[in-house]
Amino acid sequence: MGKQAPVRVALTYPSPYAAGMSSLGFQRIYRALQEAPGLSCERCFLDDDARPGAPSEVPITYESGTELAAFRIIALSVAYELELGGIVQLFDAAGIPALREDRDDRHPFVLAGGPLTFSNPLPLGAFVDAIVMGEAEGIVADIVRAIDAAGSRAAALDALAAMPHVYVPARHLGTLPTSAQCDDALLPAWAPIRTPHAELRDMFLVEVERGCSRGCTYCVMRRSTNGGMRIVPAERVLSLVPDDARRVGLVGAAVSDHPKIVEIVSSLADRGCDVGLSSLRPDRLTEPFVAALARAGHRTLTTAMDGTSERVREGLERRAKVQHLTRAAELARAHGMDRLKLYLMIGVPGEEDADVDECVELVSQLSRRIPVALGIAPFCSKRNTPLDGQPYAGIDVIDRRLERLRRGLRGRADVRGTSARWGFIEWVLAQGGEAEGRAALTAVRAGGSFAAYKKAFAALPTERPRRALAIAPA
Ligand code: SF4
Repeated sequence: MGKQAPVRVALTYPSPYAAGMSSLGFQRIYRALQEAPGLSCERCFLDDDARPGAPSEVPITYESGTELAAFRIIALSVAYELELGGIVQLFDAAGIPALREDRDDRHPFVLAGGPLTFSNPLPLGAFVDAIVMGEAEGIVADIVRAIDAAGSRAAALDALAAMPHVYVPARHLGTLPTSAQCDDALLPAWAPIRTPHAELRDMFLVEVERGCSRGCTYCVMRRSTNGGMRIVPAERVLSLVPDDARRVGLVGAAVSDHPKIVEIVSSLADRGCDVGLSSLRPDRLTEPFVAALARAGHRTLTTAMDGTSERVREGLERRAKVQHLTRAAELARAHGMDRLKLYLMIGVPGEEDADVDECVELVSQLSRRIPVALGIAPFCSKRNTPLDGQPYAGIDVIDRRLERLRRGLRGRADVRGTSARWGFIEWVLAQGGEAEGRAALTAVRAGGSFAAYKKAFAALPTERPRRALAIAPA
């Protein structure tokens, strides 16, 4: 049942309900707004059947069925670059001008935040009026009140531009403020809503730590980001899990680095819970840990291989070594699991075919112990990391190496790769500014195909995307 309050906010996710309700950050902001005196929050999502460039259902809020355009304030949660297309689809379906300069006092004020703000929110600046940088739960209510108190859109922009950690594209013109870091007393985040319709079905989500103490060179959550790793005491995590929760998701950038993670998982398994973990580092997979995971319902042991070879992994400053991955396979088998799933990137700077061949050799060895599945994504350099500015390997290079892996592992491992073309689009947006965001709008309205993005990027006035297109043939 929705809360009634003078100031209503439409908390909006630019992907469908199942994805949005599996986002702990989205649920944390929902709780922050609902708990704030004088404010209430309603949730809105991209329609399940929405297609780029095609008409779709008018977005309405889940709580009261109010049309998105009827709200004075919209708060958008954005996880990563490819969700920019979803924002355009949402606004077009709602009849809200998608570009910020096309909106006036008749339209909602659009605030945004989310994980994307830790790397590069500049392309997002084409669509939104203000962006909360970093951890928003401690400041979002004050920002909403400031928008509400301002008499006009222009006054709200001025007020927000004077607040710390808020980027106002029309005032700051590309200069980003620092990221907010919430008070430790506000940790951990936990999700107030469990639903069978989320990707993480009926799962109670709770944060066991925030940030990371490691230094992987491609990662926006490395130790230099927002004060590194903050640990939530095990007793606190366990005390938050409702008695009737049968599925619990332990969330964080580096969950397996929590010093009491084995105790937390064991204790939840004792209660009869299935436990999911958002991140498992192979060098942390010990016998008692894997035993606890097996008792907590894991049939697949999922961890990160990251790079194709030992040399590439060292270049990325990953601690995962061949012996860790081998031990993970042995432990998974010893505890009766069905398979080992490994995530890795392809097209990392400096990678060569020989590295891919080393990957084939290692995975072949692992597959003699337990069935192996590989989840592969193209490497995209992100701002705010040591590998910022690195070029995209090229669609042809990624496709060729993926095929080399598939061929080498045929009959021995399940090899799944995400699209090299979409990796390229993500890379352009990750490295771009507002112009790239506006190009995404053009592409979405032209149907959202790769050809539409390529055409839109080629028309950009800046040289960098055109240079990139030269290494990314259609
Ligand atoms: S990839 Fe994982 S372990 Fe490495 S810095 Fe990022 S969060 Fe930490």
